[in-house]
Amino acid sequence: MRRISIFGATGSIGQSTIDLIARDPDFYRIVALTGGRNVAQLADDARKLNAEIAVTAEVALLPELRERLAGSGVEAAAGEAALIEAAKRPADWVMSAIVGAAGLPPGLAALEQGATLALANKESMVCAGPLVVQTARAHGGAVLPVDSEHSAVFQALIGEDIAAVERVIITASGGAFRDWPLEKLAGATPEEAATHPNWDMGQRITIDSASMFNKALEVIETKEFFDIDPALIEVLVHPESMIHALVGFRDGALMAHVGPPDMRHAIGFALHYPERKTLPVARLDLVQLGQFTFRAACETRWPALRLAREVMATGGLAGAVFNAAKERALDAFIARRIGFLRMAEVVEETLNRVSAQSGLITAGITLDNVRAADHFARVTADEFINQD
Ligand code: NDP
Repeated sequence: MRRISIFGATGSIGQSTIDLIARDPDFYRIVALTGGRNVAQLADDARKLNAEIAVTAEVALLPELRERLAGSGVEAAAGEAALIEAAKRPADWVMSAIVGAAGLPPGLAALEQGATLALANKESMVCAGPLVVQTARAHGGAVLPVDSEHSAVFQALIGEDIAAVERVIITASGGAFRDWPLEKLAGATPEEAATHPNWDMGQRITIDSASMFNKALEVIETKEFFDIDPALIEVLVHPESMIHALVGFRDGALMAHVGPPDMRHAIGFALHYPERKTLPVARLDLVQLGQFTFRAACETRWPALRLAREVMATGGLAGAVFNAAKERALDAFIARRIGFLRMAEVVEETLNRVSAQSGLITAGITLDNVRAADHFARVTADEFINQD
């Protein structure tokens, strides 16, 4: 029996993970399920899967969670400390699917107890890649990618020598505004940005797909995950979202990972790794699909991609600053306080100001330093947002 915890269980990735696990209930014992505001879903799933503990990030919702779990035997808890305590409970496999930098501390705590961490929370790698990798190594745990592009690269690299890699290409659908004229983007609304042409995902990552901040985070994640020279990482717009990534080798071979846009493939791959087990994802009919198309990823149209390259060149805690500023800019866009194009400007202004603060970005990558850089970046981004 495998002990499983799911952080961010009420979200899009969390629900897809539960879908897979619920198909084989006798094989899994659920240690912890966590969520945020959606305590109704959290309590339902915790009852259904007979979890040991359910944790909401929202302290004010603890009484409601307790009430919903009354008589079930499932423990209830709330707040960041409770999330970390739950992550410290022994588990064999832990899904990290909280959205944002908030996913980092529980992920580290899970790695410290030797778990295999299935990492959907790309922000962990962006903010603190070296710390995540070192923590896994130090405690005999492992980190497996769940982002579809990184799962695809991981799969293409099985049995290969990383030194033979010439290029890594991660694909992007181009998001909601792929075909919009540039002039129209300034007036784009949060509702328009939150409609993805191919993937069914949480609101924040869907808007990040429209702005390409999601791809920018993934470029940094690629560097951190595979320890690859940033110069070898390319982004390619592929509107059909069927090829998730390609790895080019020095003999000219290009290995592509092809599959339907269904996160249950990457989640299931990480769940069963190193075995491949049958998964409930559609099988592609290539004749019916007919053709795949590709376009260049223009850094003028999507400045987030240029900023990602600058972040990788700066190194240190620049990723934590980038992510925190992006989270605040996204909050402000969702709240209609700034326009769609202003998000990238706020992030760039924040990066410039924070980079000028001596020592902040070059401090060692510890959880405390990540928290400090994250906090300073949020305050700085808010100042720029409030000026508008
Ligand atoms: P969702 O917004 O659907 O879900 C996020 C989860 O995190 C929910 O359980 C939410 O709780 C919880 N949560 C939100 N804020 C906090 C917080 N401050 N502390 C603790 N928990 C919190 O996101 P997704 O499932 O789409 O994405 C999750 C992660 O996976 C992200 O990092 C994303 O980039 C990544 N990812 C997602 C993909 C996808 O297809 N969706 C693909 C690849 C990567 P509640 O809803 O109850 O408030």
